[in-house]
Amino acid sequence: LNAEYEIVRRRIINNIKELRSFIDSEIIKLQQQPNVTIPELLPSLQHILDLVAQHTRWLLRNMDKLAEADGYATWRKKEVSKLNNLVQRRFFHLQNPPDCKKVKKIVCDLRPHNSFGGQVHRIVFCFIVAYKTQRTLILKPDNWYYSQGRWNDVFKPISNTCIDFNGEDFTNWPKDNHTQVLDLPPIHHILPTPSYLPLAIPEDLALRLVRLHDNPIVWWIGQILKFVYRPNQKTAAFLQNASGNLGFKRPIVGVHVRRTDKIGTEAKYHSIEEYMSAVDEYYNQLQLKENVDKRRIYLATDDPEVITKARNEYPHYEILGNSAIAKTASVDNRCFITALKGIILDLHMLSMSDFLVCTFSSQVCRLAYEIMQNYFPDASAKVTSLDDIYYFAGQSFNFRTAIMAHDSNRFGEIQLLPGDLVSIDGNHWNGYSKGRNLRTNQTGLFPSFKVRNKVVTAKFPTYSELYN
Ligand code: GDP
Repeated sequence: LNAEYEIVRRRIINNIKELRSFIDSEIIKLQQQPNVTIPELLPSLQHILDLVAQHTRWLLRNMDKLAEADGYATWRKKEVSKLNNLVQRRFFHLQNPPDCKKVKKIVCDLRPHNSFGGQVHRIVFCFIVAYKTQRTLILKPDNWYYSQGRWNDVFKPISNTCIDFNGEDFTNWPKDNHTQVLDLPPIHHILPTPSYLPLAIPEDLALRLVRLHDNPIVWWIGQILKFVYRPNQKTAAFLQNASGNLGFKRPIVGVHVRRTDKIGTEAKYHSIEEYMSAVDEYYNQLQLKENVDKRRIYLATDDPEVITKARNEYPHYEILGNSAIAKTASVDNRCFITALKGIILDLHMLSMSDFLVCTFSSQVCRLAYEIMQNYFPDASAKVTSLDDIYYFAGQSFNFRTAIMAHDSNRFGEIQLLPGDLVSIDGNHWNGYSKGRNLRTNQTGLFPSFKVRNKVVTAKFPTYSELYN
């Protein structure tokens, strides 16, 4: 299958969305400037907005049809399942050595983090180091933040044969590569950041992944979560029961509204209307494809008020959610076992949804998006983040490559030449992104369609012994 075809197909989809954001935001700016815009123009501006919305939805629908009609749908499904088997077999091999007494180990203490997202992402980081160094990963069992419990109280063990972190000799990373047991510090203590950490993906998988997926690093992290983040029997039964009680049914959009301690410290406030406008857009698009009998969302939040407000303001929506969970999720209650159950359930519901609306500044949103990758061949576009672009905490640079020149005298914009590397800060979701051009050292805005993702790869072992 032609990789270029898949890449171009996905690029067009992104271009259409960027074009829509650009026109919307420029027209809205005009509407909101009463001194500049003559009142007679206002109906025309609204007309442009309406027609552009309809037109771009129709374009996206046609792209959808193209993907259905090009005959590659079966290939996409098969390829993702092959890659998934390949990677999971390697993980299983790494994590189940025949002799735990002799094997080299990485020990991963969860304590440096005191949040669910932080601890799970710490395991992902440790797992990548383990996979790279071919050492079996051992989780320190007794220091789970929630309820002083243990990882294995809720999740399956990450090994069937090796959970003992003892060994002949022991040292802290990175002192001695020959020591049997290595203890890993927090990711940001490892300096300089090793080149194989996110956003890098394994070189030996890169070609296939780039063809298959629009955001390969998220697929890679999703695979690791698929291996380590597996509810044990008790948790699985709880999830099944609870999601049934909540009335999980498709179509459904997962909405995560992060409030309490995050607002004003690490993230900006976004009103419920902003979230719901993205949800509306999802359903307006879906309605071109199928009849939607009921617009439905699952609303996860750490602020119970959000659920009440949403139900009052959006009575035509079916809003699944549980204020009691939201209450235990708020900042004062997070160390209890009920909070742990709540976040696991919320993540389950969010990641199982058909689409996500949330803020990537929150680890909860990123985690749901990562897990979601395991349910579709490519779920990279199944999200609207109201703030950041996707990132992995502790990552090194996130680059884009300019594919065409940009020259502008507008204030705040930077110049681009084809081939320029740009370290990206964010997407303003108005047609523009912000970043630093490494060639000129200029920082500023440029049209998002003039760059493409630069996928970073790193050498990893290929576990060839598995195929002998
Ligand atoms: P971040 O602070 O949003 O980046 O995410 P973290 O996982 O680091 O910490 C936030 C913590 O707040 C989570 O681990 C949960 O315990 C809790 N939390 C935040 N949002 C929700 C939510 O929607 N549902 C539940 N159940 N808990 C949440």
